[in-house]
Parts: sequence; C-alpha cells; structure tokens
Amino acid sequence: MKLLDLLKDLVYPEKQVCLACGRRYDHSEITGICDRCLAKFSFITQSCPVCGREVIPPNLLEDHPCPECQKERPPYNFAKSVFTYAGYARDILLEFKYGDRPDLSDPFGELLHLYYSEYFADRDIDYIIPVPMHGERENYRGYNQSARLAKKLAGKINLQYRDILLRIKNSLPLYTLTKKARKLELEGAFEIKEGCGCDVFAEKNILVIDDIMTTGTTASEISHFLFEDLNAKNVYILTAASVPVTID
Ligand SMILES: [Zn+2]
Ligand SMILES: [Zn+2]
Repeated sequence: MKLLDLLKDLVYPEKQVCLACGRRYDHSEITGICDRCLAKFSFITQSCPVCGREVIPPNLLEDHPCPECQKERPPYNFAKSVFTYAGYARDILLEFKYGDRPDLSDPFGELLHLYYSEYFADRDIDYIIPVPMHGERENYRGYNQSARLAKKLAGKINLQYRDILLRIKNSLPLYTLTKKARKLELEGAFEIKEGCGCDVFAEKNILVIDDIMTTGTTASEISHFLFEDLNAKNVYILTAASVPVTID
C-alpha cells in the first residue's frame, strides 16, 4: 500500500455516506456531502458587491451594484451568499429547511465557513446571530435552520454566537407578497429577548446568518432593527443560498 493511501485510510477509515444523495464516497472537500453532489451546486464567485447575489447576465464592471441595490441601497454593509438557489442545491436546501434534516447543517455550515474565511474574516466580527424564526413555526418544524447554521459557523471560528432576537410576528410567506407588502409584513417583527439589555450589540460588528436570501427584505429589516434599535456599528449578512438578480 502506498504511503498516501495509508494516510488516507487513517484519516478516512471508512467510506462516508453523502447526506444529500445517500451514496457512499471516499473523499470530499466538504464533510458530509460527496463531490458529485457538490459539482451540481452553482457556487457564487462574481456577484453584486452589495447584496452578494449572482447577477444574470453578469455585470461586466466589477464593483458595480445590481439594479436593485442601485434603486434602493440596502441598510447592511455587505452581504454574500455561497450558492445560487436553483436546481439540485435548492432541493437539498429545502430538505434542510422543511424536511426534518438538521444533519444537513454540517455540510452547509462548512460551506459557510469557506465563504466566511474569504469574505468576512478581516471584518472584526463580534457576534454571529441567526435570523430568528417565530416560536410557533419553530415548534412546528422542530428547529430553526438559520440558527443551526449560525451555531455551526460560530463553533468553527470560535466567535460568540448570540441567539437573542425574537421574531414576534408570524409573517406570511414573503415570496407571495409585493415588495411594499413584504416590508409592511416585517415591520416591528423583531425584538430582543427579555433581560438581554439593549446595549449588547451597541457599537458591535454583527454577522447575521440566514439560509436563503430571496428578495433581501428580511436581511434589510433585521439590519434596520440592529442599527436603529440596538445601535450596531456594522451589519453583515451571510446566507447559504440566494435567488439571483435577473436583468431583463
Ligand atoms: Zn452526494
Ligand atoms: Zn445587489
């Protein structure tokens, strides 16, 4: 047996089962998901420098915000997503979100870690927080997938995870609403947990984790809350997936 194989056997003593497709595999860049599945993800490299979403067709000018961010600059400092919410990656993410599959937070958490290292490591983040889910919804689904992701990421980089925001409005699914209605739906939706003290995020750099950025309304509204009500210094957003901005 070659030395390299021997070492591989030591590191990967037995084949692992891919959490996405169920196939056994020897090795993958990301724990818990095989290379074949990863190859089907559309990872975001070039994106809008503000909202971090893929722009279709791509902007030729680098550092040029997408039309949506030009029309209304979002309140957060900077956002980034790992992959585009489409095709196979979308199916796996939906399984994580609705299918009682908290185990998928392992591979997704690792992907977030890669992007964190590339885009956020030098931003002096103080706290990592999840977008909160309304209590009733969380009880029904069993877990808040964004909290799972945020906790995984915080554990990997040794940063403080704080799950102290509450979602006090059980909003309608936002994708069914117009932009104006989405904003109204989320107005006053967030609150800080009792006894936490409003100054906990004052003058701090906060990284907000969510599973999907669809229209950006949730990211904007939670940033508003962090800036206006809690005096945060900087707010950054990192999501596993995002819906691309399509220019007609
Ligand atoms: Zn697989
Ligand atoms: Zn944008």
